[in-house]
Amino acid sequence: MSGMPPEMEKLLVLQDREQKHARLTRELAVWPAEMKALEAKRVEIRAGAEKKRLEAQSTEVERKNLELEAATHRAKVARYKIQQFETRKNEEFSALGTEIAREEKEVHEIEDRELELMDRGEKAKKAAAIEIEAAKGREAEVTAKELEQGKKKIELETRLADSAKEIEMLAAGLDEGVLGKYRRIMASKKDVAVVPVVHGTNCGGCHMKLTAGSAISAKAGNMGATCENCGRLLFWPVS
Ligand SMILES: [Zn+2]
Repeated sequence: MSGMPPEMEKLLVLQDREQKHARLTRELAVWPAEMKALEAKRVEIRAGAEKKRLEAQSTEVERKNLELEAATHRAKVARYKIQQFETRKNEEFSALGTEIAREEKEVHEIEDRELELMDRGEKAKKAAAIEIEAAKGREAEVTAKELEQGKKKIELETRLADSAKEIEMLAAGLDEGVLGKYRRIMASKKDVAVVPVVHGTNCGGCHMKLTAGSAISAKAGNMGATCENCGRLLFWPVS
């Protein structure tokens, strides 16, 4: 005897399609998290480039401030030189001379710092340009992945819709009593409702040893054969 009643064959096909449907549903469920991760990546890439740009900018600002500072000191030197030219007092002349020397020393120091900053600024600018260019490439990768994800979502939704239709059709072809029992077991067990008898003695769901009655009932192709332990429907596998 073939052992497998046609009703059981249909039920197994339904269970297989429902398990596939559940897998697709789980895949679709992680989609928003995948998109969120890509968006976080984009934010991170942009922040990295922005940080380099700001570093270059702040060096430039610092250099400009030094320029202004140097100009102030130079103006003082010019003013003191005029005062020196105008004075007739030796004491004042030499005091102004000291001031001029002090201010000129300041100017030299500032100029040294300016040169150093210019060098640093150039390097920072180059680093920023490289980073911004690299960021563009990385962002393009993220965008490509987002497009891929968008396609994947549509594909998953299409497959889910097709699968839902197929499940509906398969369910309509089943005996109502069998389908009801299957649905109740599936609702409580979540994973699988119809399981094979394994090694001719054990339940393929909970793996417990079956009573002789249950095993015989399954072997006879009885649709009502169930495991006493877990309540799952049993079928006798065709060898
Ligand atoms: Zn069981």
